[in-house]
Amino acid sequence: MHPFAYLAPTTVKEAVEVLNKYGDKARPLAGGTDLLVKARANVWDLDAVVDVKNIPELNKINFDSEGLTIGASVACCHIYENEQICDEYEGIVDAASIIGGIQIQSRAGLGGNLCNGAPSADGICPLIVNNAIAIIEGPNGKREVSVDDFCTGPSKTILENGELLVSIFLPKPKENFGSAYTRFIPRNEMDIAVAAVAASVKLSPDKNIIEDAKIALASVGPTPIVAEDAAKSLIGGTISDELINNAASLAKNAATPITDMRGTIEQRKDLVEVLTRRMITKSIERARG
Ligand SMILES: Cc1cc2nc3c(=O)[nH]c(=O)nc-3n(C[C@H](O)[C@H](O)[C@H](O)COP(=O)(O)OP(=O)(O)OC[C@H]3O[C@@H](n4cnc5c(N)ncnc54)[C@H](O)[C@@H]3O)c2cc1C
Repeated sequence: MHPFAYLAPTTVKEAVEVLNKYGDKARPLAGGTDLLVKARANVWDLDAVVDVKNIPELNKINFDSEGLTIGASVACCHIYENEQICDEYEGIVDAASIIGGIQIQSRAGLGGNLCNGAPSADGICPLIVNNAIAIIEGPNGKREVSVDDFCTGPSKTILENGELLVSIFLPKPKENFGSAYTRFIPRNEMDIAVAAVAASVKLSPDKNIIEDAKIALASVGPTPIVAEDAAKSLIGGTISDELINNAASLAKNAATPITDMRGTIEQRKDLVEVLTRRMITKSIERARG
């Protein structure tokens, strides 16, 4: 590892300018809990680290009539300590409270989790099932990208050199909406998911029919996977074990895991089925209040 510049801009414009100037020789630093590990392992040849924690826009949590905006550098602890987020975005809170331990959660945020682009990331699938949008600014201006389309491969995202994730926007949940996230790890905490599932549902006014649904899978493919067929199979259906089991089996089919030291293909696919069943059930419970 060779010496690199530490830069701490205080505006988005300034951050974009320095990121653009250094190109692929610079990386933004939010909590640093992925970046520092990778920098020390010489994953990149860095000339500059651009600390984005001093930019006010990236550190804000803001609610308006449209929904919730979480700045890209907001640490997980500020997410699960926010009462309104706990009330309205339970699946997001599930994720923020299991990323690392308390020390990691006081630095690491969902922005860094998303930009790091790990297939096992705990934050990305809950964002997907909440229809989150990434707000990005770069040398060519502003753009918005659905989190569904953000990751393109292991540790690869749609971000171009010079681009900065400013915030993540989550639309206001509709009436009778619920979401949930869980992962399977062999230890009780502080481990990388062998498989993980996020689900969300929106129920009818009588809370017996699923009017909308979304399911996303982590750690079972090169990127987070949106299990579209599984979600579609729930829409319009009256809640029953059969409906949920069928969706869980379709989610299993959508998983494309590999065998590695953490688990086999068969184990991961089976886990997806079990976790999907549990997360749909939990989302329904939450939607029913
Ligand atoms: C002990 C330990 C335990 C962990 N446990 C978990 C876990 O249980 N689950 C899990 O998912 N992860 C875990 N991680 C990984 C890591 O903590 C998370 O991915 C975390 O959310 C990263 O957030 P960060 O703010 O620290 O990002 P950083 O490390 O600062 O950044 C991560 C990447 O995103 C880029 N980046 C950051 N901010 C921006 C931005 N605004 N715009 C563009 N690019 C940006 C950086 O350049 C870097 O490439 C763990 C890490 C450690 C060290």
